[in-house]
Amino acid sequence: MEHGFVDCHCHISAREFEEDLEDVIQRTTEAGVKTLVAVTEEVREFDRVLQLQERYPALLAPCLGLHPLQRGPDGEQRSVTPKDLEDALPLFYKHRERLVAVGEIGLDFTPWFCPSQQDRQQQLEVFTRQLDVSKELQLPVNVHSRSAAKVTIQTMREQGISAALLHNFAGKPSVALEGVKAGYFFSFPPAVCRNQQRDKLIKQIPLEHICLETDSPALGLDRHVRNEPSNILLSCRHIADVKGLSTQTVQLVTTQNALRLFPKAQVN
Ligand SMILES: [Zn+2]
Repeated sequence: MEHGFVDCHCHISAREFEEDLEDVIQRTTEAGVKTLVAVTEEVREFDRVLQLQERYPALLAPCLGLHPLQRGPDGEQRSVTPKDLEDALPLFYKHRERLVAVGEIGLDFTPWFCPSQQDRQQQLEVFTRQLDVSKELQLPVNVHSRSAAKVTIQTMREQGISAALLHNFAGKPSVALEGVKAGYFFSFPPAVCRNQQRDKLIKQIPLEHICLETDSPALGLDRHVRNEPSNILLSCRHIADVKGLSTQTVQLVTTQNALRLFPKAQVN
């Protein structure tokens, strides 16, 4: 595994990793992960991810961004609002030199969340404004889309976005191929191993547009067990199996893809 892996989307600043972070990081490097592209969901996480980059400068490549769903004071989920963005905006500019991308941003129209028309509108406004920020700072975007595949890709194309990662994409293959045409990349976490529906998508997206991710601490092999970046080999193996390629090929090409997409993420 001489080229190493790039975990293109993980939440290493999550509370779930606070207690045993040293051990998690050790297992990460032992698994051959050279770079962690660390995304944020909420403004209160920004400091933590930047501090972690200072602690692990060779490993951690930070992104700042507001997720379409935010957690309220009681832990309930709500749509992101323009007010949330006001608090975040100055920090994007302040830390622009250190960022490898803007993310995690996107749209989440999941039915269980019952987004109202206003929810969708607010998410779309905040997403579009963060896309503007990424263009101004000349940074790629790290994107979430759930039950909103088509509108997410459409919005990015309309905004002239050329460098994007669609993480854990689960839309139709025809929609994904629109993204491929626009030059976008798609990353898949270990959870795809337990979901055969995703194989069709993985087969159709050319390897030159695929990256690896874990989305730790979520989206592991077992939904009840905390996921961590050292599980990235599971994604690699699964994509290799589905595409009939060797794991070495998938590792090499996905790492090259990741560095093309995130040029500021250096593999040491
Ligand atoms: Zn995520």
